[in-house]
Amino acid sequence: MDTSTPSGRLIPTTRLLWPAPLLVWAFLPAAASATCIANPNGDIPSLQALVARDATRALKQVQTRLDALAGAPRIPRADKVRASLLAVQAEAYGILELTTQARSAALQGLELATDVHDPVHLELVSLHAENVFDGAGLAQEIKAVERARSAQLPGSVADTCLLITRGVLENRQDRADLAIVSLTQAYRASAGPVVTAAHVASAAGLSVVMRGMRDYPQALALNQEEIDWDTSHGATLSLSVSRFMRGQILKQTGAYKAAITEFSEARKLSAAVDDEQGVGYADLRICESHVELGELPGAREECANALRIFSASQDADTVKEAQVLMARIDLRDGRPESALATLNEVLDRAGADLEPAHVASMYELRARANAEMHRYRHAYDDLREYARRYAAANEAERREQAGALRARFETDREIERNATLKRELAQSRERSSRQALQLRWNAIVVLAGLCVIALLIYFLVMNFRFRQKLVKLASQDGLTGLPNRRRAAQFATAALQRARETGQPLALAIIDMDHFKVINDRCGHAAGDHVLKEFARSGSEALRDTDLLGRWGGEEFLLVMPGATLQVALANLERLRTLVFGIRLPPSGVGLRVSLSAGVAVFDANVKSLDDLVARADAALYTAKNDGRDLVRIADPNYITGSHAIRRAQRQ
Ligand code: GH3
Ligand code: MG
Ligand code: MG
Repeated sequence: MDTSTPSGRLIPTTRLLWPAPLLVWAFLPAAASATCIANPNGDIPSLQALVARDATRALKQVQTRLDALAGAPRIPRADKVRASLLAVQAEAYGILELTTQARSAALQGLELATDVHDPVHLELVSLHAENVFDGAGLAQEIKAVERARSAQLPGSVADTCLLITRGVLENRQDRADLAIVSLTQAYRASAGPVVTAAHVASAAGLSVVMRGMRDYPQALALNQEEIDWDTSHGATLSLSVSRFMRGQILKQTGAYKAAITEFSEARKLSAAVDDEQGVGYADLRICESHVELGELPGAREECANALRIFSASQDADTVKEAQVLMARIDLRDGRPESALATLNEVLDRAGADLEPAHVASMYELRARANAEMHRYRHAYDDLREYARRYAAANEAERREQAGALRARFETDREIERNATLKRELAQSRERSSRQALQLRWNAIVVLAGLCVIALLIYFLVMNFRFRQKLVKLASQDGLTGLPNRRRAAQFATAALQRARETGQPLALAIIDMDHFKVINDRCGHAAGDHVLKEFARSGSEALRDTDLLGRWGGEEFLLVMPGATLQVALANLERLRTLVFGIRLPPSGVGLRVSLSAGVAVFDANVKSLDDLVARADAALYTAKNDGRDLVRIADPNYITGSHAIRRAQRQ
C-alpha cells in the first residue's frame, strides 16, 4: 500500500491495504535522521555508511566486532565503542524493518551511553524512538526526545536531529500538522551552503508530509534532495528507499508507468544488498501499479512474490495488503469466488486490525465480489458499510488536511515573523554599532583632550623649570657659582634692613685678590679662573650658612655677615685670608702665592644705605692694599660716606 515501504527508513504503523488510502503520509523516512548526529568514535562513521549501502553486511561486521569486545574489560573506552556499535546495529535493524531487534539494540546501547551530551546517547534515543509504532509508545518516545532536546543548544545539529525524530513520530501519530512544523523548522535550521545529513533527513521527512498534502511538485523536489545525497554517498540501500519513495509519489499522481520504473530501480538496488523486505515492497507496488494499468498477468506474479516474502517474515499487515491486491486481480480475471474468499479472510475482524482509512475500499471491493456471485443482500450490506466508513475516513482526511494546511500556513507566518525579527535585530545591531562608533569617537576626543592637557601640564612644568633656571642664572655667577652682584646686593640690602629693625649686628667686607693681573699674566687666564673658583668653593665652605659670599665683579668679592660683630667678622676674614694660601698655581707661577686683601665695615646708626657700608669697606680695602696687601683693614666708623665710584677711583 502507499504508506508501506521497502525498508526501515519509512516505518509503517500498520502495513496496509488497498486501494489508495486516504491518509497516505502517515509514515516517514527515519534512517536518515539516525546518522544525522555524527558519531565521533573511530571507524563508526564508515560502518554507518555501510548500513546505508548494505545493512545486512554491516550487521555481520558489527556482530563480529561486538563478539570480539565481549571478553574485554568493562572500561569506559570499551563501553563507548560497544554503545556506538549497538547504535549501528539498531540503525541496520531499523532500515531492514527488524524493529524489535532495533529497539533492543538501542536499549542495550542506552544502558552504556547515558551522558545526555554524548552524540552516541542522542543517536540511540532517536533510534529507539524511530522503531516504535504503537500510539502509547509514540507519546512516550516524543517525551524522551524532548527530554534529550532540553539538554541541547537550541539550533545545534543535535537539537535539529532530535527535532527531525520528533517530526517523524508526530507524523506517525497522524499529526501531520505537528510534523510539518517540526520538520520545516529542522529543514530551515539545517539549511546552509553545505548539504548536511540533517538537512537531507528533514527533506526526506517533509517530502512524505507534502505527498500526504498532495503537494506533489514539492514532494518530488524534496525527494530529489534525498536521491542526490544517496547517489553521491554511494548509499545503495538508502537510494533504494529514496527511489521507492519517488515511485510512491508518482503512483499517487497517476503516473503509473514512471512509478513502475522507480519501483523496479528500487527493487534492483534492494536485491543487490540482499534486502528481502525491500524487494517485497517493490514487488507489491509494481503489482499495484500494474493492476491500475490493467496489466494483470504480470501483476499476479509480483503480488505472489510479495505475499511469499511477507508471509515468511510474518508481516501480517502487509500480507493482508497483498491479499487485497490479489482479490482485485481475481475479480478482474473473473474469479469472484476466490476474491471473496480472500477478502473474507482479510476482513475477518471487520477491519479492526487495519488502518480505518483503508477499510472502506475493502468493503466496496467485497460488495463487488458479492454482487458478481449474485449475493445481493451481502453486497448491499458491504456497500452500506463502505459508505459509512468512507464518509468517516473522508471526514478524518478532511480534518487532517485542514490541520496540516493550517500548520503550513502557521509555519510560513512564523518564518515571516522570524524574518521581521531578524530585520529588527539587524536594525538594532546597526544602531548599536553606530552608537559604539560614536562612543569610540567620544573616547578618541576625550583622549585627545587628555593628551592636550598633559602636554600643557608638561609645557607649564618645563616653563616653570626654565623660569627657575633663568632666575637662578639671573642671580648666580657663571664662573664661580656664587651669588652674583645683583643677588649679593639684594641680600645685603635685606640684611641691612633687618639689622636696622632688630638692632642685631651686621658686618660687610669687600675682598680683592692681590696682584691678580700678575697671576693671569704668568699662569694664564685659565689658572686665574681656577683661583677664583677655588676661592669661591673653599670660602663658602668655611663660612656660616647665614653668611653670604658673592662675586662683586672681576676678582672682587662681597662678604655679608648678618649677626656678626666686628670680632666675628675679623675671625671669618682671617680664615679666608689664610685659606687662599692653599690654592695651588701651575709651575709657571713659581714664586707666586695667592693672597687677598679685605676691608671690613660694621653697621651703625650712621649707615644710611648699602652704598654707605660698601664705601666704608671699600675704603678699608684701599688701605689694606696701600699697607702692603695680604691684609684685612677695618673701616673707619667716622669715614664720611661719599660716592662709591669716587672712592673706587681714588683707590685705582
Ligand atoms: P691689586 O693687588 O692692586 O688688586 O692688583 P691687581 O692686579 O689684582 O689689580 P687690577 O685691578 O690691576 O687687576 C685685576 C685683574 O683681574 C685684571 C683682570 O684681567 C683680572 N680679572 C678680572 N676678572 C677676571 C676673571 O674673571 N678671570 C681672570 N682670570 N682674571 C680676571
Ligand atoms: Mg686685585
Ligand atoms: Mg681688583
